[in-house]
Amino acid sequence: METRAVIYSKAFPFAIDSAKGATIRDVDGNLYIDWVGGICVLNVGHNNPFVSEAVRSQMDRIWHALEIPTESRIQFMQKMNSVLPEGLRDHAKFLFTVTGADACEAGISLAKHITGKRTIIAFEGAYHGVHQGIVGLTSNRKYLQTSGTMRLGVFHLPYPYGYRFPFPAAKGDEGKVVLSYLEHLLVDEYSGLDDPAGIIVEPILGEGGYVVPPDDFMPGLREIADKFQIPLIVDEVQTGFGRTGKFWGCELTGTTPDIMCISKSVGAGLPLSLIAYRADYDETVPDAFHLGTYRGNPVATAAGAASIDYIKRENLLSRTEKLGERAKSRFEQIAMSSAQVGEVRGRGFMIGNEIVQSKDTKVPSKDSAVQMRRMMFENGLLMHTCGHFGNVLRFMAPLVISESLLHKGLEIYENAVKSMS
Ligand code: PMP
Repeated sequence: METRAVIYSKAFPFAIDSAKGATIRDVDGNLYIDWVGGICVLNVGHNNPFVSEAVRSQMDRIWHALEIPTESRIQFMQKMNSVLPEGLRDHAKFLFTVTGADACEAGISLAKHITGKRTIIAFEGAYHGVHQGIVGLTSNRKYLQTSGTMRLGVFHLPYPYGYRFPFPAAKGDEGKVVLSYLEHLLVDEYSGLDDPAGIIVEPILGEGGYVVPPDDFMPGLREIADKFQIPLIVDEVQTGFGRTGKFWGCELTGTTPDIMCISKSVGAGLPLSLIAYRADYDETVPDAFHLGTYRGNPVATAAGAASIDYIKRENLLSRTEKLGERAKSRFEQIAMSSAQVGEVRGRGFMIGNEIVQSKDTKVPSKDSAVQMRRMMFENGLLMHTCGHFGNVLRFMAPLVISESLLHKGLEIYENAVKSMS
């Protein structure tokens, strides 16, 4: 019946009965600790009772309303505004979309509309979705090939990926190297870079391997964007909604986006996405710009509004920061006594463990990462891979996971690492 193109059910070969918080029960009654969280969708946990209540009550009122105002839509926008990065708060407009790729497409279209230009600067390791337009900005050539389209109007720069940076640079200087190369490209008319319509960046690489750039990278990009009047589009689809211990990944370095792409956890598991952008960009946006039937579903906006309340009420950001630091130290300890964990990196509940054949050669080992994923699955822990080479095991548990489940998961992970040596 279903296409063979599915991936997650191959990584985790079970059938789900139900889920709660940070656990999933399969149809045979086995309980799994969930460190995947629907790929950063379930930050407030599966079936969060507070969100569930808001969803149920909205379902008794209206399920689909096009863009016509409902209490749910208005409340959601007010609450979203209250958590925007300071530089956007009270100065932003929202445009609803449905998926992450959809939000990124909207962000790109807006930047092109504002500047009248066509070329977008993106980064190696980037994942922004696989629809016909946005797939060109996603850096992986496999997705481009399978979509049957061409990479048009895109210029990719290296991301400051310290562990595998392609140019000579002192540790921590990779961001400076990328920024000075970008500045050179912009100044030199012979560089081969057309006048850009925008720069799109993930504050921490998600699918590209949970790569945290040096602290000066995002503010440096902001400076260049200002200097050359290029819209800075920050893709917060994976880093947003508390994942890094800040509400947005760009807040880790105090960087204000011109356009921010938001999806995944914003709907707490219901499809919802949007862009938030500088109000002055709105002045010339035409009617029906980036149109869509499902722009801002009322049930999903009710879930989003309740999630924001829940994150605030439970102080989830500081919990994520604190517990994330502890988890990262534990991952680092485990890495120290293993020949195959080359690097641990991350912020909050976004931690990557790069699996290599050996620390000396740094040769990526997707096979080992996949073998460990299977071993952990068999021992009751869901942990997924990512990265340029599919060799990064990433921790992206719901932010509400209990300390005991976090600890239990770390034990299962440690056993998997040990069994590889
Ligand atoms: N941007 C980022 C940073 C993502 O991680 C993803 C999905 N993993 C997307 C965009 C695309 O989102 P979607 O799968 O909902 O299209």
